[in-house]
Amino acid sequence: MIVMKFGGTSVESAAAIERVAGIVKSRLELRPIVVVSAMGKTTNKLLAIANAAIAGRREEYIRQLHDLRDMHSREARLLTPLHKRAELDRTLDEHFEELTELAKGLAVLGELTPRSVDAISSYGERLSSYIVSLGFEHFGLPAVHVDSRKVIITDHRHTQAAPLFEETYQRLEETLPALAVTQVPVMGGFIGSTLEGVTSTLGRGGSDFTASIVGAGVRAEEIQIWTDVDGMLTADPTILPGGHRVKSISFAEAAELAYFGAKVLHPATVIPAIERNIPVMILNSRRPEVPGTRIVAEAVPCRNAVKSIACKKNITIVNIHSSRMFMAHGFLRRIFEIFDRFETPVDMISTSEVSVSLTVDNTDRLDEIQAELAVFSEVTAESGQAIVCLVGENIRYTPGVASRVFTALNGVNIRMISQGASLLNLGVVIAMKDLSAAVEALHTEFFSELDPEVFD
Ligand code: ADP
Ligand code: ASP
Ligand code: MG
Repeated sequence: MIVMKFGGTSVESAAAIERVAGIVKSRLELRPIVVVSAMGKTTNKLLAIANAAIAGRREEYIRQLHDLRDMHSREARLLTPLHKRAELDRTLDEHFEELTELAKGLAVLGELTPRSVDAISSYGERLSSYIVSLGFEHFGLPAVHVDSRKVIITDHRHTQAAPLFEETYQRLEETLPALAVTQVPVMGGFIGSTLEGVTSTLGRGGSDFTASIVGAGVRAEEIQIWTDVDGMLTADPTILPGGHRVKSISFAEAAELAYFGAKVLHPATVIPAIERNIPVMILNSRRPEVPGTRIVAEAVPCRNAVKSIACKKNITIVNIHSSRMFMAHGFLRRIFEIFDRFETPVDMISTSEVSVSLTVDNTDRLDEIQAELAVFSEVTAESGQAIVCLVGENIRYTPGVASRVFTALNGVNIRMISQGASLLNLGVVIAMKDLSAAVEALHTEFFSELDPEVFD
């Protein structure tokens, strides 16, 4: 068995779904299980509907619901034979009536809880998995739709739920292998449910994680992440186009890149794959002939120090200074206890005796955090920053990487530096305005010569 996950752009239209059907067909003898994201930007649109509803903008959310229905209906009709159109219309009616009721409910309440965010955002994958399974049948694949909420069981942390692995693996094992003998199971990524049956989600970009959970659950031979780029590239193509494909990378390197902003892979994807030692491939659904990136336990030997450069945009530096804490212990504990209480992860940190700088991505609760820190320190926050992170197992064995970074970034104001404890990354914090020039300079420095065994 293999798991094949297709992201939003790979299933954005009937034409895209036809391409996906062709790719799955060519691998039918490997007994694929298919995981799909919501079509195109549907998740963003559903969240916009929720926000318009709680703000009381009725006309806006009704119109957005119509547009979303039109898009799904238009594309799905192209994939549905005439005798199945009535069933399609009925299913779409049901889903959109429920969605409209949900939006109306939110408008009355005027409040969006994490649980209702999950209820609304789950419809993207619920619809896409149904439509893709219709499309597969249309193109001659024996598809069977599986409701992910029956097999992916999570805790109650809505919008960021974590799978209950034991329960989930057991359900996956009981359900999927038997189906995959003669059929192609198609399920939505991203969504699950709690043990009580309440719909939950694994967090934005979570369909990659679903694919990996499913792969581990059925002990698949391979997990394939099909997306809109040729694989893991040496730089984020939205910041620096023209990066090179990395042919092979380790789980540890891929996880680090994902964590520091390489959106091509959800950071948790590697966890189940590592646990059961299943290789993960990143492949391009528009160019299936490209061999992609293979993510494996041990990186192949590489002559380059760095494998790729990741970027995390729009982060905020929090500077905490406290002369009162000079020589006192417990300063850091006090600081981190506050970030923890407000559920705000910290990405990078640098300290001296009386001051600490750290970076956060999520600033939803920064005002409250700052107020509490201000009780025992002076606090300032600076938005508009970016983390640039070089990743490669070789960084730890290669002398002079830091000095090459500083030379390449000559003239850029480096606000923070950190070499991760794992020794496979080196990160700097710079202003957003310097980001693209900095990435370009670093890319030239580290990728002008390429080891042909590792890069394309
Ligand atoms: P999908 O909808 O298939 O899950 P995503 O948009 O989540 O696709 O992820 C693919 C995108 O990740 C690419 O289009 C690219 O812009 C972005 N990306 C960021 N960093 C990298 C990188 N190092 N290599 C490849 N793609 C990257
Ligand atoms: N549709 C979800 C999102 O946009 C999950 C995914 O695509 O991975 O976040
Ligand atoms: Mg994604």
